[in-house]
Amino acid sequence: LADDLRGIEAELARYIPDEIIISYALVTLAATIKKWGYRLTFLDHDSNAIDLLRSYLARVQPAILLHLEAPAVYVPEQYVQLDAATQRNIALLHNSDDGAANYTVCNAVDETVTAMGARLIKKWLVRPLRNAAAIQARHDVVGLFVTQSTVRAQAIDLLRLIADIERIVGRIVLGRAAQRDYVLLRDALQPIAQLQNLLLSQPSLPLFARLLEGFGRYEDLYMLLHTALYEGEQEWLIKEGYDTSLDELRALASDGHSCIAQYAAEQALAYDISSLKVLYTSVAGYFIEITKTHTHKVPESYRHIQTLAGRERYVTAELSALERRVQTAHDDSVARDKALYATLELQVATYATSLRRTAAALAVLDVLIGFATVAHTRRYVRPDFVEEQRIEIIAGRHPVVEYALSRSQVFTANDTSLSSHERVWMVTGPNMGGKSTYLRQVALISLLAQCGSFVPATVARLMLVDRIFTRIGAGDNVAQGKSTFLIEMEEAATICTQATAASLVILDEVGRGTSTEDGKALAQAIIEYLVHTVGCLTLFATHYHELTHLAYDMPAIANYHMVCVKQGDVLHFLHKIEAGVAQASFGIEVAQLAALPAAIIKRARELVAL
Ligand code: ATP
Repeated sequence: LADDLRGIEAELARYIPDEIIISYALVTLAATIKKWGYRLTFLDHDSNAIDLLRSYLARVQPAILLHLEAPAVYVPEQYVQLDAATQRNIALLHNSDDGAANYTVCNAVDETVTAMGARLIKKWLVRPLRNAAAIQARHDVVGLFVTQSTVRAQAIDLLRLIADIERIVGRIVLGRAAQRDYVLLRDALQPIAQLQNLLLSQPSLPLFARLLEGFGRYEDLYMLLHTALYEGEQEWLIKEGYDTSLDELRALASDGHSCIAQYAAEQALAYDISSLKVLYTSVAGYFIEITKTHTHKVPESYRHIQTLAGRERYVTAELSALERRVQTAHDDSVARDKALYATLELQVATYATSLRRTAAALAVLDVLIGFATVAHTRRYVRPDFVEEQRIEIIAGRHPVVEYALSRSQVFTANDTSLSSHERVWMVTGPNMGGKSTYLRQVALISLLAQCGSFVPATVARLMLVDRIFTRIGAGDNVAQGKSTFLIEMEEAATICTQATAASLVILDEVGRGTSTEDGKALAQAIIEYLVHTVGCLTLFATHYHELTHLAYDMPAIANYHMVCVKQGDVLHFLHKIEAGVAQASFGIEVAQLAALPAAIIKRARELVAL
């Protein structure tokens, strides 16, 4: 059950759902999920998941049921498993540190230009693939756009012209689209066709074929929207020229106004009343107004309706008839306009399925072109996948730390070479030496590679990992009634029970939340278990220098350390990893950097010297 819960927690962390629909039958599970901070809606319906969802939608949004596509089965095993703690630890989409809200992996590698791409990259980053062919198909496309800078620039320009058609289609099928949505849709169709042509002019990559299929053809839809949609000053929906009877009604309505003006002129002439005017109010409609001095000339046919100071108002049978004609033509034109627009909406809705596929293809293209932009501007390389157990990286960098460094700072690249012969690197080094950065960078390079991105390194030869685990730092979860140490051990338990020889395990400090003896003993026992029983590739950072002796007894373990140089009292962090064990942790020196009172530093030095 604990494993199931972890699985559910990990998947929810990937999905970040706005709302979870859950049956009353699962009330115990629901209580746990609620503690994780998700919004739950209970349904008194005990059936399988799809029926449950349908009955919920039938209640809150019945229109959507007509447009639901066939459900697709989600198989978590197709993706690299990242438990919830790992997703947090490597700050994929969110950074728990408020002050560094922008420093997420997503921020560093997201160069998408459409809303659809921006949503997709988030999905991809939490779901790295495990299928080599699928990953390589993505790499092929990235590679092409890395080398073809002009094509990439052209494609980006076209993508920028494309609105969020995924959301627009959603509104269309729900009957909630505004006229502007149709305008945006129309304006997206030509760039889509141009993108299609651009891809057709490129070498035929397997993924291109699939994307092109998804793009579809929209000449008819374009013509329809182009000829039908009105854009202008009037409160019209449908453009002139689209429908003859609508045009006639509109002409009649506007013609009516000139007929009335003409009628006024004729009456003034016929009865010699120069001050005769035809006026309109919404209450009285059209009427003739004459100044008092001329009232003796008014013919019998004029029916008096109102007296005002110095003026009299009349209506005539002819004027009323004209008024009815104008009003009717106007009302009819509005009704016709609306009816044609409603038909247009239905016609466009028939393209919904196809447009959704197009939106999906555009999103993929956008993410991949974004990866190419990152690769080109930040010198990322295409990773190679190897069959054997191996993670070999030359001059690897941390994508987020490197991205966050200012221009004057240089990120120090580091190598990695884990293999079946040397499965564990035990990394020691001073505080602030760069251990955490290094450990995470290896996890991120592996993860980015399997998402289809190029990676920040000069060479990367990687095995396909099935899971990435990170146990980093300490996070209290008092809300869940768990202490720091309990959480640490729970995370270690997940790793030891779920990791396989194809997993990458990052352990940044294990056993620190308890007494030194217990902590060291647990850390050693965990490493031994990972080496002998699990056989995964592991990076293990520790300040327990005593643990480095393990390397002498176990050939699968190698000692590495982050180099730092002490000149006088000043510590220089080189952030460089080298074989061997660090001389010390330099905790006191780092504490000094943190401006701890001098008396404390002095006393600490005395105690160390004892
Ligand atoms: P501690 O043991 O105290 O947790 P640490 O050894 O894990 O420290 P990091 O947190 O990884 O150290 O690194 C400290 C800082 O050094 C980082 O925030 C980063 O700014 C910088 N840094 C780390 N690695 C590099 C690198 N390779 N190049 C440049 N700067 C780096």
